[in-house]
Order: sequence, then C-alpha cells, then structure tokens
Amino acid sequence: MTSTAVSVSGLTKCFGARTAVDNLDLELPCGVVAGFVGPNGAGKTTTMAMLLGLVRPTAGTGAVLGGSITTPAAYLQRVGALLESPAFYASLSGAENLRVFATVAGQSIGAIPELLDMVGLGGRGDDRYRGYSRGMKQRLGIAAALLGDPELLILDEPANGLDPQGVQDMRSLIGRLAGTGRTVLVSSHDLSEVEQVCDWLVLIDTGRSLYQGPTRALLDGASAGLAVVPERARDLSVLRDLLVADGHHVVLHDDRLVVQASSTGIRDVAASVNRAAFAAEMVLVELSPLRTTLEDSYLAMVHGAGR
Ligand code: ATP
Repeated sequence: MTSTAVSVSGLTKCFGARTAVDNLDLELPCGVVAGFVGPNGAGKTTTMAMLLGLVRPTAGTGAVLGGSITTPAAYLQRVGALLESPAFYASLSGAENLRVFATVAGQSIGAIPELLDMVGLGGRGDDRYRGYSRGMKQRLGIAAALLGDPELLILDEPANGLDPQGVQDMRSLIGRLAGTGRTVLVSSHDLSEVEQVCDWLVLIDTGRSLYQGPTRALLDGASAGLAVVPERARDLSVLRDLLVADGHHVVLHDDRLVVQASSTGIRDVAASVNRAAFAAEMVLVELSPLRTTLEDSYLAMVHGAGR
C-alpha cells in the first residue's frame, strides 16, 4: 500500500503547437480531498484525462495508485471518474441507470441505495432520469463514479453550470466524500468553491503548477491578518497597546483591530492575541482571519505566471 495516490513528474501534453500541460509535477497523498484549481484552459481536464489513460502524455512519468501511467489498465478498476456527463438512459430511473452501469462494468449493485443516499438522491432514485435537474444529473454521475468503491475519485468541474443551490449541494457532497477515506481530485476554476471542502490544493495555470499543498498552509500564507473585536469598545486601544508590546503589528480600524500575520502563521498570531486578551480579562467577540486576500493571492500567482 503506497501513501501517495498520484505521483507524476514532468507530465506534458502538446496538441500540435499548443502546450496544454507543461512539465507538471503532481503529488497527491492518499486520503486527501484535493481541489484542482485553474482558470479556463489551464490544463485541468487534460491532466485528469492523462491520469485516466484517455489522453496519451507527450512526456512525463509517474504512477497512479502505485501503477505506472504508461499502463492505466492496471489501476483504472480502482479509480472512479466524472469527466463528462455519462450517457444515462432518459427513460430509466436513476437507480435503474446505476444498475445498468454496474452490470456492464461487472460491479455489485448492492451498494446502489447507499450511493443514492450519499449523493442526496435517496428519495428520487426511482424517478426517471429525464425529470432530473442539472444538479441531480451531476450527482447521479458521481454515484456512477462511486459504483466500484474506488480508492481514487476524479471529478472534472462537477459544479459547472449549477445554480447557487446546486453548487452548495455539490460542495456538501464533496464534504461527505471527504469522510470516506478515499482520495478525491476535483477540478474547478473557482478557488472559493473548493477551498471550503478541500484539505489539499493544486493550483495551475497555462499547464504549470503554481501551488501544491495543504489548503491550510495557503490560507495561512494568504491571510494578511486577523480582525480582532473585543466585547467592550473601550478595550480596543488597551488591547492594541498590549499587542504592540507583545511585538505584533496592529492597526486600529473603527470598531476592530487588524493584527498582521507573522512568519510563523496566522494560527500562532490568533493564539497569541487570544492569550493576551484572556490575561487582560477581555472577551473577544471576533477573532477571524481576513480571508479576502486568498483570492487576491491566487490571482497574484496567476498574474505572476505571466497572464
Ligand atoms: P476549463 O476550465 O475551461 O475546462 P481546463 O483547465 O480543463 O479548462 P483543458 O481543457 O485541459 O483546460 O485545456 C487546456 C488547453 O489545451 C486549452 O488551450 C485547450 O484549448 C487545449 N486543448 C484541450 N484539448 C485539446 C484537443 N483535443 N485538441 C487541441 N487542443 C486542446
């Protein structure tokens, strides 16, 4: 049993003169739910298609679930994928469609009711596919991808084209998948869509890696600071002086203090602020990272990469 679900190096795909994926190194530890994020045309689908043996790499080596990407048949039984919407039968129900898929693939049909529950179609499994909403169709596609109880699940933009409720449903579904122990790679062009449910991020642009690692590390690095609000407004300036004396860089903004992140990370700063407030018998009603800069730092990475 390997501790790395995906490990590829120098993965490259050229379509004629166009380089869709450019010397990409990708490492996914087993069990992570990884958001694969990049703007349109960044090379996400092409990368996923190469991992699934659907597109032949121009160059690169590596392994998926321990099997070489040069012989995908060796590992594909253990991988579930949703790249394009599967061709379901419109006149059959969701459950019947899954039974057809499972039978054709030689997979068990026993888990179908449980899978329908997991994707939020428990009460609608006997309805005809043609009556499903776009979000329900996407979720049925994920149920189909889960039929073989895969160790690795690859989902290409499952929230694409969904309304806000559909996007939220998809986010909760991915959150539920996170608890199942399998490795998930889910692509999106929207960082805010995946960063809430993915514990790992792979950011790419123009086929090149911009960041790979824990979501938390990126959030910590991106957070410009902490917003701190004491319960009593009169404590603002006292707390500011205490924090400055502790070596923090603090700015007073109206009803809040903004404490700059330190090199040791936002968690350390939050703990230190909390300790100082507690020691001074102050109650904090807000102690929150200023998160807007995550999107900013992502865009800065994209622009820094030459777009
Ligand atoms: P999106 O978010 O829009 O789906 P993506 O990140 O998935 O984008 P890809 O679909 O992998 O990006 O495309 C990467 C680049 O490769 C794009 O410039 C695209 O036009 C090109 N490309 C992809 N498939 C082909 C193909 N079969 N023939 C020629 N060019 C292709």
